[in-house]
Amino acid sequence: MKRSVLLAGNWKMNFGPKETAQFIETLSKEFGKKTSPSTMRLYVPYLDLQTALATAKELQLPIQMGAQNIHFEKSGAFTGEISASMLKEIGITQALVGHSERRQYFGETNETAMKRAASALEQGLEVLACIGETLNERNQNQTEAVLRSQLTPFLENATCAAALGERLHIAYEPVWAIGTGVTATPEQAETAHAFIRSLLEQKLGAIAQKTKILYGGSVTPANFASLLNCPNIDGGLVGGASLKPDSWLQLWNLAQAN
Ligand code: PEP
Repeated sequence: MKRSVLLAGNWKMNFGPKETAQFIETLSKEFGKKTSPSTMRLYVPYLDLQTALATAKELQLPIQMGAQNIHFEKSGAFTGEISASMLKEIGITQALVGHSERRQYFGETNETAMKRAASALEQGLEVLACIGETLNERNQNQTEAVLRSQLTPFLENATCAAALGERLHIAYEPVWAIGTGVTATPEQAETAHAFIRSLLEQKLGAIAQKTKILYGGSVTPANFASLLNCPNIDGGLVGGASLKPDSWLQLWNLAQAN
């Protein structure tokens, strides 16, 4: 089954509102008028979301805007946090959960990543959930065990399981490839993606074929085409190369060509 390509940028903690507007204005000059089923999405810092939405709307660019994280409670005594309903109020339809930097630096667990996804889905948002092994885990032949343990909470939660293939998708991001310049080879990535799809299939049957599985980890215009050629890779989650309009537009052209 052919799934349309999703190109998602993760800006991490980069750019304020002024640079956000400038970036989107630069994109508009080269965005192209091709009609393609591919989707461009940017996960930007909370502070930039309204500027990003307004600028894309003004320039009539069909770019989806998303938050890089959300809290799983709707409201309450959670200083510094943002809920899915707050994002929804300003027109945000997308959220990322479980990024490895959240796991590594902010205590994110398999359980809390799933709770964030469920809360966002309950509010009507679409969610991209990140999973992936560390280098140590790969070297100890634990990749499949880690992917299974990270994916299982999403499969076992009723809200998440019901949304897989529709509003919940997966990003496979090997931690050793994130921001390192070392990309998984297409073979390594395809093996992991096929394994993730087999887990989805075991639990959800045909829904597995509708679920997008994005690859993330040092994606660049030089390696994206060969990754997209793999049957189970449905797009990219891109950090560094999403911060430069040139490389981002090159990736967009490759996404549209697929
Ligand atoms: C990411 O932030 O999810 C990521 C994959 O970063 P990079 O493309 O820079 O490796």
